[in-house]
Amino acid sequence: MVRAEQVHKSFGRTEVLKGIDLEVKPGEVMCVIGPSGSGKSTFLRCINHLEKINAGRLYVNGHLVGYREKGGKLYELRDKEVAAQRREIGMVFQRFNLFPHMTALENVMEAPLRVKRQPKGEVRERATALLNRVGLGDKANSYPAQLSGGQQQRVAIARALAMEPALMLFDEPTSALDPELVGEVLEVMKQLALDGMTMIVVTHEMGFAREVGDSLVFMDEGVVVEKGSPREVLANPRHPRTQDFLSKVL
Ligand code: ADP
Ligand code: MG
Repeated sequence: MVRAEQVHKSFGRTEVLKGIDLEVKPGEVMCVIGPSGSGKSTFLRCINHLEKINAGRLYVNGHLVGYREKGGKLYELRDKEVAAQRREIGMVFQRFNLFPHMTALENVMEAPLRVKRQPKGEVRERATALLNRVGLGDKANSYPAQLSGGQQQRVAIARALAMEPALMLFDEPTSALDPELVGEVLEVMKQLALDGMTMIVVTHEMGFAREVGDSLVFMDEGVVVEKGSPREVLANPRHPRTQDFLSKVL
């Protein structure tokens, strides 16, 4: 579902991703940990077309991200083709980014109505089902300001799912939440994983990584320092940098 081959990304003279090689198979959950500034968000943003890579190859759902390859040469995709690729990917950020002037239901309906131009009745029905799925069936008509952070983040997950993505990216989805609200968001993500969604989750929640993750990646200074099964990496980190990081967060 995702394959990164020697992905490089620089901002000016600063190289932020220094040759990332990773693979996520359909239905897998990959958790990514690492210190602040190690390039985790940049990697997700490259997958989701928010940044362009400088070298290497990035594939999502069988497509080369942002390019077409022909006769050994790369050609940039047109905006329309990029938009089509992006529709296969749902992303949830640390901040909830809901539209404040729309209800929970309207937030979930917005993209399918605008982008997919589907009939309103159908969209409403599916959006309602998605709100039920994240445990917010009774909040359909609430505005974001009337919801807790955990509820807003669950709406954000439902909104991403409304586009029926093949892949979901989560960038520290619980980091901005009060501690007592973290569990309800992780529970929704766990259900999503059990339903077979392919996910890449940048998180500091080691319990979630251990329980839900199929693989765990430790990034530092733009490289993948260590990857393996979450239990292995958390219990027996091999690399000194991983050991040092885990000793600070666990
Ligand atoms: P993480 O998510 O692991 O904390 P980031 O991917 O956000 O790390 O950032 C990695 C590095 O890239 C940081 O040093 C950050 O300052 C830099 N960086 C990120 N985005 C930009 C940008 N748009 N322009 C310049 N530097 C950036
Ligand atoms: Mg980040």
